[in-house]
Amino acid sequence: MADILVSISDLRIFSYGTTIGCGLLLWMLEGLKPFFSPQKNRSVHAKLNLSMAGLNLLILLPSGMLMAFMLEWSRSVWPGIGILALPPFAEAMVIILLIDLWMYAWHRLNHETALLWKFHSIHHSDATLDVTTSWRFHYIEILFSELLRFPLFMLIGAGIEHLLLYSLLMTPVIEFHHSNISIPPAMDRLARLIIPSPMMHRLHHSRQRSEHDSNYGSMLSLWDRLFGSFLLSNNLEGLRLGLDNESDPGRQRFSALFMRPFRP
Ligand SMILES: [Zn+2]
Ligand SMILES: [Zn+2]
Repeated sequence: MADILVSISDLRIFSYGTTIGCGLLLWMLEGLKPFFSPQKNRSVHAKLNLSMAGLNLLILLPSGMLMAFMLEWSRSVWPGIGILALPPFAEAMVIILLIDLWMYAWHRLNHETALLWKFHSIHHSDATLDVTTSWRFHYIEILFSELLRFPLFMLIGAGIEHLLLYSLLMTPVIEFHHSNISIPPAMDRLARLIIPSPMMHRLHHSRQRSEHDSNYGSMLSLWDRLFGSFLLSNNLEGLRLGLDNESDPGRQRFSALFMRPFRP
């Protein structure tokens, strides 16, 4: 068990290092070549989103440790797709694909269920999209997500190493598609063959419901293409980000966002 904890903590440190490193790089690039400009109060905006991320870490750290023990136990009882005896690399790829499919379904459920939207709308209420928006989630959404994905992971036989590997691959993609960097259209076209690109995710943050109920993918754009939620517009001029009636500074304070889903 000690060995498992050491390798898990190595992977976790590597995963956090990648998240912070990519985040800082994109933050710098946003300053040099922003897509939406002018950018006002970048650091005030970042401080709010980072405060929400800090709170979420308090949930993610203990739940990650608990998940590591529980998944290790569960695989000793039920191997999941381990029953197919695939080579380790192929098994890891299948598990990562299934986790990403779950993330797509979970995100879509957050848009299509009134109760879940109350929490997920906090992510969408950000009227200034940048890399820090990728860390802005209500803590109850994180809690629900942690609890609901656990039975699925047990069913498919995912180990904590698969989860960390997925997080290592997915987090830079999420940071990239939220980022406010201007990239050549050809690069965006190339990116969206595999991942949800910045142009795709900007539409996902549109105020118009017909636009924000689209492009749910986290790591792969495949699921949106497969399940009919892929949406594209090459002209994002006039795109209004955020949600109606949510841009008021009083509604964008940490305490207001913290309590919003519980208020009528
Ligand atoms: Zn969403
Ligand atoms: Zn988003």
